[in-house]
Amino acid sequence: MSYSVRGGEPVVIEALRVRALPEGGYDHLLEFLRLYRDAVQMVVDRIWSINDRLSKRKLHRLFYNDLVSLGFRAHHTKEIYVYAESVVKSARSKNERKPTLRRLSARIDRYDYRLDLDSMTLTLKLHSDYEARLKLVASSERVEKFKSWSNYEMVVKCDGSGFWVSIYFKKAVKPLKPRTVMSIDLNFDNITIAVLTLDGKLLGLKRFKTPLRKILTHRIWVERTQKRYPRSWRFIKGVKKAVDRHGEKIRNISWDYAHKVGDLVAELASKRSSIIALEDLDKLRENNKKGKRFNKRLGLWIYRRIQFCIEYEARERGIEVVKINPRSTSSKCPRCGKKLAEYRHRVLRCRKCGFVGDRDVIAAINLYKKYMSKHPRCGVSGVAPNAPKHDENPSGVQGKGDDAMKNIKPHELI
Ligand SMILES: [Zn+2]
Repeated sequence: MSYSVRGGEPVVIEALRVRALPEGGYDHLLEFLRLYRDAVQMVVDRIWSINDRLSKRKLHRLFYNDLVSLGFRAHHTKEIYVYAESVVKSARSKNERKPTLRRLSARIDRYDYRLDLDSMTLTLKLHSDYEARLKLVASSERVEKFKSWSNYEMVVKCDGSGFWVSIYFKKAVKPLKPRTVMSIDLNFDNITIAVLTLDGKLLGLKRFKTPLRKILTHRIWVERTQKRYPRSWRFIKGVKKAVDRHGEKIRNISWDYAHKVGDLVAELASKRSSIIALEDLDKLRENNKKGKRFNKRLGLWIYRRIQFCIEYEARERGIEVVKINPRSTSSKCPRCGKKLAEYRHRVLRCRKCGFVGDRDVIAAINLYKKYMSKHPRCGVSGVAPNAPKHDENPSGVQGKGDDAMKNIKPHELI
């Protein structure tokens, strides 16, 4: 899924990729795909020798008539020369030789196909007025949500296993007017969430356990096995099978967890009309302290996966997501900005003002402060939030009598 803002209106774009079975016009569809590939190749060959950048108008002038005379429809021709131009551009940027197209794949404009999601059929308009009818192979649950979206381009492909289509859908999302900020601190063993109002009041805290220790156990098993059979593990049937099995466990646990957290977080943010502030993981390298809190052995992919699901679910609900550089968020006092020192296990203390708080909660609140200082919506940036003081809330993770903010039991997530 991608997310873009056009003319001020945020749009969500998502592709439905499914297998498709031709019901009629199989031969013509195959013929079309071959013709299409050869036409793209013809355009590639001809513009390869031209060194100028070609505008759409110029491309149209150069190729429209030729392509139409091959039997293509007007919109086909545009897709063909635009695609050919992008192929050439990409090959040139990588200093490659002139590309030769082998795959059978065609991009089709929305004027050249009809999609009926109720009957799951797709009708393609091909060359020389031929048509092909395809049955989409997907469950009705999977396509249900797209019924309210609008479809635009699609790609049809043929490989050794048959035909595949990717249909692109878009949906305008009404951005929610944020009333609170939800900042999320990802760690090895927990995810800590703080919800604060725009003027700095802490509304609640929440903490989810992560299954990363479990994932790490599988990871370590795999590493050990690969070390024991450094060259041969791939070729010993039993070993390869066991490695694959652990790999699959890792994949399942991590996706399952990421989806659940994404859904829960987005629901919560929707109830609270929050903007979601995430740590910008790309900025992490310059930040050793936080780096240590992630497990290097696992790498960042799992955190990226969790963030991906949070963003995905949030944007579908019209919730804005921002990424904030996490530098020094876990080492500075949220009240006075001075450096914090270790006080107890996972608890930090400020030597200057005496503030004491849970390490992860501090990180989440500092993330919020960083967001607010960059986006001073209400002129309240710099106001110290009412972070929990150690005497009133030592662990700093209990909510304040708000149902939505109650801790979720770990077993629900793992
Ligand atoms: Zn302080």
